[in-house]
Amino acid sequence: MTAATDPTLFSQPDAYADPPRDADAVLEGLDPEQREVATALHGPVCVLAGAGTGKTRAITHRIAYGVRAGILPPASVLAVTFTSRAAGEMRGRLRQLGASGVQARTFHSAALRQLQFFWPRAVGGELPRLLERKVQLVAEAAARCRLRLDRNELRDLIGEIEWSKVTQTVPEDYPAVVAKTTRVPPRDPAETARVFGMYEQLKRDRSVIDFEDVLLLTVGVLQDRPDIADTVRGQYQHFVVDEYQDVSPLQQRLLELWVGDRQNLCVVGDASQTIYSFTGATPDHLLDFRTRHPDSTVVKLVRDYRSTPQVVHLANGLLSQATGRAAEHRLELVSQREAGPEPAYVEYADEPSEAEGTARRIRELIDSGVPASEIAVLYRINAQSEIYEQALVDADVPYQLRGAERFFERPEVREAGVALRSAARFGENDSLLDGAADLPSQVRAVLSGSGWTPEPPAGSGAVRDRWESLAALVRLAESLAASRSAAGKEAPTLGDFVAELDERANAQHAPTVEGVTLASLHSAKGLEWDAVFLTGLTEGMMPITHAKTDAQVEEERRLLYVGVTRARLHLTLSWALSRSPGGRGGRRPSRFLNGLRPGTSATGTRGSGGPGGIERGRSGGSRARKRRGPVQCRVCGRSLTDPGEMKLMRCEDCPSDMDEQLYERLREWRSEQAKQLGQPAYCVFTDKTLLAIAETVPDGEAELACISGVGARKLERFGADVLALCAGEELGAEDAEEPSQ
Ligand code: ATP
Ligand code: MG
Repeated sequence: MTAATDPTLFSQPDAYADPPRDADAVLEGLDPEQREVATALHGPVCVLAGAGTGKTRAITHRIAYGVRAGILPPASVLAVTFTSRAAGEMRGRLRQLGASGVQARTFHSAALRQLQFFWPRAVGGELPRLLERKVQLVAEAAARCRLRLDRNELRDLIGEIEWSKVTQTVPEDYPAVVAKTTRVPPRDPAETARVFGMYEQLKRDRSVIDFEDVLLLTVGVLQDRPDIADTVRGQYQHFVVDEYQDVSPLQQRLLELWVGDRQNLCVVGDASQTIYSFTGATPDHLLDFRTRHPDSTVVKLVRDYRSTPQVVHLANGLLSQATGRAAEHRLELVSQREAGPEPAYVEYADEPSEAEGTARRIRELIDSGVPASEIAVLYRINAQSEIYEQALVDADVPYQLRGAERFFERPEVREAGVALRSAARFGENDSLLDGAADLPSQVRAVLSGSGWTPEPPAGSGAVRDRWESLAALVRLAESLAASRSAAGKEAPTLGDFVAELDERANAQHAPTVEGVTLASLHSAKGLEWDAVFLTGLTEGMMPITHAKTDAQVEEERRLLYVGVTRARLHLTLSWALSRSPGGRGGRRPSRFLNGLRPGTSATGTRGSGGPGGIERGRSGGSRARKRRGPVQCRVCGRSLTDPGEMKLMRCEDCPSDMDEQLYERLREWRSEQAKQLGQPAYCVFTDKTLLAIAETVPDGEAELACISGVGARKLERFGADVLALCAGEELGAEDAEEPSQ
């Protein structure tokens, strides 16, 4: 996946291009306003700019320019980003620009580092253990307050505790403070305050601290100990903050303590992308920056380098209907790219059709040459991922969920590192390297010992993931060799490659792994892809049902704006009229699309609308796949809504009328297939699908295709075998040996 990308820096093989020759050359990649940001190295600087206008690029170049010009000592710069991934990427970009050694961290990781260092001096002893998850301790605190809460209630309560802590609200003050906000407390505030107080007490008793405590304690130490504050200020002299619109009051306080009464602070943000207000973040710090720093340089960027005019038109249209403080400060984006396709609006009958239709479109894009890593499916809540995962598996499209383990921490990458290191050490004496002349062939030879093959294993799943990681290492080797040769330099050795990997691992900069990204809209912040699918855009999901107040609904609109502005070229917006096949179809597309999607006006009534039209999504792949009516239990006739039961086509507790022998034969056949394909059994068919097959005993392709989990590709690949087994035919030994197509 390319993330918050700078194609000129990250697309291969440029990733290895030499750093700019000097400080002035760093500025060459910037437009005049961005240059103003990069060269304003002293004094407060505030960049207010829309999505894709190069904010992240401008601050990265600013640091690099300052370091390369000898104005900013690298160790004196602290760049704060929103996620550790963004921090890793910033370090990678800085390295590419010839400015290593700068600290790029999240607020949390920078604070934790300082706290660990200063704790013995400030408090004495070791820093208390950091609690990874609050849920257990909050449940215990609730129980002590005689409350029995289910998982969702606990989650809501944790949300309130976290909000209180980042707004620096102590338990006793919570009821009064929350009453003054537009926040809708999920339960009686007095009760929440009691559990919150008990939770804090339990933490103290057990000598543990939570995530927010890291920031609170750092603030406390810096406030109470001027000597420690001076030491920290002596180390860090220059501060840069990305995504400043989502800074919480606690983070803001920490930033103020770091900066002290100095002026060297540069913040960048887009109030229209404020999507974390629900956690206590607020764009006020960004919007009031000039008031707090009257002598600051304020730069506005409006040139959108990321998206086509078509995508930008939609983004601007979406924001034109926004209200609230952020909306008052919105900037009209101007695309710098060539025209591209109109955004597609696709309406589906039900969610499985939407997932299937999306997977089919993705397959078409991949077949037309768009790399899978340049495609993303975004949804409102993580629970929506499952149906897309299944649809992509069925369509044979590799995918990855955002938030997975970091590349260099994955077991297969570590193992590969050990193998490459050992081969580099033994050099020509390593028999694995026989006949491998150049670096890419050497790397392929070594990694073939770890399971790399020239062709990927079919399907997805753990085996495919492992292969993708190894393939990413092979691509890195190819790209290193290509860039060295383009620069007229000596061919790289295996030792050079190992050194490069080490450096990358340190910079936490993972090479792209070929797979479609599945991510929530929140976690897509700052990232970009060639093709983006915004799915599930119905009322109830966008805005989400629990967004009740105007402010909450506006935040949902901004979330959709974040989604739209992730797309460089292809943008598809889709929704399903009912959840399950054969449902009433009573859902409505998101109100935010009114006046933007064809045939609607801003009030939601039918109007002239924009260009293009709404497509009716169809389901199925190359072969027609009949959609079922409402799925009803085959045994008792009840309408089914649970996905597992829908797959089975009966209530979980209704008696099964399964042909046991057929089920056994199907299972044997499945393990044989899985063995041949080198994949886990569930990649062939899941247990539920197999059970449904054994229960329905389909007697033709059409019937088999109606079983959930039997997508067009699986039908093509396994249909003949499964139907033969259902017809009671014995699969001959030869047939069984032969890999299915
Ligand atoms: P977001 O609001 O989503 O965080 P952003 O304002 O931080 O976006 P960047 O991610 O820095 O924007 O840049 C968006 C894209 O535009 C990147 O691919 C970047 O490389 C490209 N870009 C930015 N400025 C320029 C420029 N002057 N010339 C060419 N490409 C640019
Ligand atoms: Mg950015």
